[in-house]
Amino acid sequence: MNQRGILVVVSGFSGAGKGTLMKELLKRYDNYALSISATTRSPREGELDGREYFFVDKERFQQMIAEGELIEYAQYVNHYYGTPREYVERQMASGKDVILEIEIQGALKVKKRFPDTLLLFVTPPSARELKSRLVGRGTETIEVINARLRRAAEEAAGMEAYDYLLINDEIETCVEEMHQLIQLQHCRTSYH
Ligand code: 5GP
Repeated sequence: MNQRGILVVVSGFSGAGKGTLMKELLKRYDNYALSISATTRSPREGELDGREYFFVDKERFQQMIAEGELIEYAQYVNHYYGTPREYVERQMASGKDVILEIEIQGALKVKKRFPDTLLLFVTPPSARELKSRLVGRGTETIEVINARLRRAAEEAAGMEAYDYLLINDEIETCVEEMHQLIQLQHCRTSYH
């Protein structure tokens, strides 16, 4: 029988480079699966329904909550985001470690429900770089960028709830550190 996979939460400031990090991790190792969240926000240019997110309206999102289809959900700058249960459970049962790229409220809910979850917080080397990455991405208005930076400052206050802080200075190094930490977590967990 397969060893059951674990959950790995990756949080971090919007613009910390989490997306690129995840892509690289999945390209290098085949024992990870990335959960695709449902959200009520609209797709950004280049985003596809069912690839970056399942883009749903508020009614559908509420129905998902009511029917217990989400492991967790949270509100982030005017929109709802949640983790669909079915995919996560199937992947874990098949032995894959499932990566959840979610914000702090969701991270804490997941940790409470699944105590073996590894919580990682990714940050760019400096706040100045964070802002220039968000502006450089060109996908948000300045008002939204500022709202996201305010939210980032709030999240920084909750950083100590995480197991490790990863500084995304150099992508190669960061991916390897992440992989090593997940492997270590397998050694720590008691349920295998
Ligand atoms: P974005 O709009 O930049 O894609 O995501 C905004 C924030 O929502 C990010 O911090 C992202 O990690 C978080 N997020 C994405 N999906 C989920 C989810 O399913 N649950 C929770 N709690 N947060 C999520």
